[in-house]
Amino acid sequence: MATSYRNFIDGTFSDVVTAETFEIVNPATEQVIGEAPDTCAAEVDRAVQAAKLAQAGWEKLPPQARAGYLRQISAKIRQNVNRIAETITREQGKPMGLSSMEVNFTADYIDYMAEWARRIEGEIIASDRPNETIMLFRKPIGVTAGILPWNFPFFLIARKLAPALVTGNTVVIKSSEETPINAYLFSELLADLDLPAGVVNILSGRGATTGDALSRHKDVGLVSFTGSVATGARIMEAAAKNLTRVNLELGGKAPAIVLADADIDLAAKAVYDSRVLNSGQLCNCAERIYVERSVVEEFSAKLTEHMKATRYGDPLADRDVAMGPLINRAGRDKIEKLVDAARRDGAEVLTGGRVADRKGWHFEPTVLAGCTSDMAVMRDEIFGPVVPVQAIDSLDEGIALANDSEYGLTSSIFTRSLGAAQQAMRELRFGETYINREHFEAIQGFHAGRRKSGIGGADGKHGLYEYTETHIVYMQG
Ligand code: NAD
Repeated sequence: MATSYRNFIDGTFSDVVTAETFEIVNPATEQVIGEAPDTCAAEVDRAVQAAKLAQAGWEKLPPQARAGYLRQISAKIRQNVNRIAETITREQGKPMGLSSMEVNFTADYIDYMAEWARRIEGEIIASDRPNETIMLFRKPIGVTAGILPWNFPFFLIARKLAPALVTGNTVVIKSSEETPINAYLFSELLADLDLPAGVVNILSGRGATTGDALSRHKDVGLVSFTGSVATGARIMEAAAKNLTRVNLELGGKAPAIVLADADIDLAAKAVYDSRVLNSGQLCNCAERIYVERSVVEEFSAKLTEHMKATRYGDPLADRDVAMGPLINRAGRDKIEKLVDAARRDGAEVLTGGRVADRKGWHFEPTVLAGCTSDMAVMRDEIFGPVVPVQAIDSLDEGIALANDSEYGLTSSIFTRSLGAAQQAMRELRFGETYINREHFEAIQGFHAGRRKSGIGGADGKHGLYEYTETHIVYMQG
């Protein structure tokens, strides 16, 4: 019988058996590995009320005391890296090395946010009146909700939870229906601590039931969501009813521009790493490559060599794979459609191009040459190990094509010219730009998308302050 996982509400594992459950599948083997509750609106309400009740006391604690709890959580995570990593690999499909990295990074992220406890600052502003002081405070919002995708499921719990808790909010987290087991393990770690009940609540469930109920709940002050554009829009609509704030980290279609003067080996390796890491299922990694015509063959040949050599398969059966499966059949089928359409429209397949002939949702590492900007593969999010390459004749053309997208999350340029790099910094209309390196954000940066890639952002000081609201006080006397 499949293992059943439970919700963590008000400091205990919930024994309420909801009518509905859903199955959890290992994407490398297609085997059912468990089931979890599709949490209904009444249970969501119980979690929100627990978070609301806990919030007043939590806010009264000095930030440094709240940070103490965060450090207890990160220490617990570090003691359980292997167990958590194996769970992530089993339900999500990434190689064990990457899962371990995700778990350690999660602990680092929590420690980083804990450091902010002594650095949360307000402002003192000069007044027009005698004997008056104007003070601006940063206060917690109250109950915050975190709705998660499946691609970095464990890390994303921390990205929502750590800035919320250190600033005095409480949280209700909903894991993705693809990956609830790692979130259950997170709850188990919390249950071992003396964290006040209700400060963190973790639920499983589908988007249309649990996610929707959280987004439209009147006592939730902020919905922080990471996922697709379509879902982000739905959440915004549901939240609008109560004018609930939203923080939306949505999809991407990251361009990489490779100029003729670039270190081509570096560019090919960086783009390769982007597409193979997590099977290309990353919002921020290079998905469309614009290469100056004089080096496009050299670049494509080097990239193809890397892609051809990629070892992939079931990451629990073979610990040496560089790449696991896609998350599910729908994800794999979408990639197949995009590649087939590109081929029909004249793209040349340099390697890969097909669904892999093996169990699990694998797609062959693929390079497409001769792409043009009207192809869907150059415009829509692929979320898989496929790199489409288009030739360009100038930096101006590369920047214009890069900016011509409904997405605006990350971008990159490879060049040895300071002038070209500076022009790209000035003219690329994206939340992030990487110069001569792979796409991957830092904890202390600010991960924020423009256009349909989102509203608000995460990480660093600016990400922390997304979890606060201002309170200005005019004091006379
Ligand atoms: P998704 O939008 O399908 O689901 C994300 C979450 O939203 C899940 O927990 C789901 O249950 C929930 N959900 C679905 N419908 C809902 C509704 N009506 N109301 C409330 N919640 C609902 O996304 P996914 O497939 O899990 O993740 C992949 C997407 O996430 C990609 O588009 C990727 O680019 C994006 N992503 C963005 C970032 C970023 O930082 N910008 C990071 C990772 C992933």
